[in-house]
Amino acid sequence: MYDAIIIGAGPAGLTAAIYARRAEKKVLVLEAKSYGGQIINTLDIENYPAEEHISGFDFATKLYNQAKNLGAEIVFEKAVEIKDFKSYKEVITPRNTYQTKTIILATGSENRKLNIEKEEELIGKGISYCATCDGAFYKKKRVAVVGGGNTALEDALYLSNLVDTVYLIHRRDSFRGEEATLNQLKEKENVQMILNSNVVALNATDRLKSIEVEDLEGNKQTIEVDGLFVAVGRIPENENFRQIIQLDSAGYIEAGEDCHTNVEGIYAAGDNRVKEVRQLVTAASDGAIAATEAIKYINNHQED
Ligand code: NAP
Repeated sequence: MYDAIIIGAGPAGLTAAIYARRAEKKVLVLEAKSYGGQIINTLDIENYPAEEHISGFDFATKLYNQAKNLGAEIVFEKAVEIKDFKSYKEVITPRNTYQTKTIILATGSENRKLNIEKEEELIGKGISYCATCDGAFYKKKRVAVVGGGNTALEDALYLSNLVDTVYLIHRRDSFRGEEATLNQLKEKENVQMILNSNVVALNATDRLKSIEVEDLEGNKQTIEVDGLFVAVGRIPENENFRQIIQLDSAGYIEAGEDCHTNVEGIYAAGDNRVKEVRQLVTAASDGAIAATEAIKYINNHQED
């Protein structure tokens, strides 16, 4: 029986593991992919207190080692179901069933897809969801970025320093990303903004050759590109817990700043819960809060 099973080894989950281990609780972290969550793909972190510059990979690795050195068990298995038996809970993976007193859901989010034909089959053959991971494959080539948030703006800026031409395609006439980044982009001669438009089709033989872009009046154009970077936001990874955990209409866990879910002894930490600011520092903060609440719960239920 674990004291806490933490689902997700991103910044929220690993911070929770550190806090729970420092309280000498028996901790298992389950991770479906690789440790670090989405931050592992960030080239340079500049907004984490006391770290002026650090790569996402180095940050995630330091955090992983810190949790592990404190004695957290970290196992690479996907939690596919959780069950609540009041006095204890179960976490089920394809290989094992684990028992625990508390659960911290720190599953983060995954890339939102455009959901157009051929998108899945062209991943790695022209379609990418990570400019810092795949940008180097497109040196001196033509690429498009789709989206209007900070990720799209930062991806376009990053790519503009590598590739020949960047088309930044957004479905509105203004961006929701930061003004400062947008201004930097406007200075770039090799960035073309295509507003009020959507990518509606992908043309490919063995790899992506061109994209069809349609404006809000229905006018279509074909743009030849070697790569399309999709940066249209993220979707919380909570579907496996929907049966017992209350989610909002967008799929985020209904948990407030105290990280409590609707089930006693189950907490949510990080990008997968309803919140205003989804940043590295708020994910870490959630991890600390969720672990502290779980520790209180465990200590209060010691006689059960
Ligand atoms: P986001 O802010 O949710 O923006 C997603 C963008 O994609 C929006 O412009 C949205 O359009 C567009 N979009 C959504 N679905 C679409 C579809 N099916 N087709 C076309 N366009 C679509 O996502 P994000 O940019 O990934 O950022 C996520 C969070 O991380 C934000 O809070 C952001 O500030 C933060 N972030 C921060 C930094 C940083 O601090 N350096 C860097 C990256 C991200 P609409 O505008 O029309 O909704």
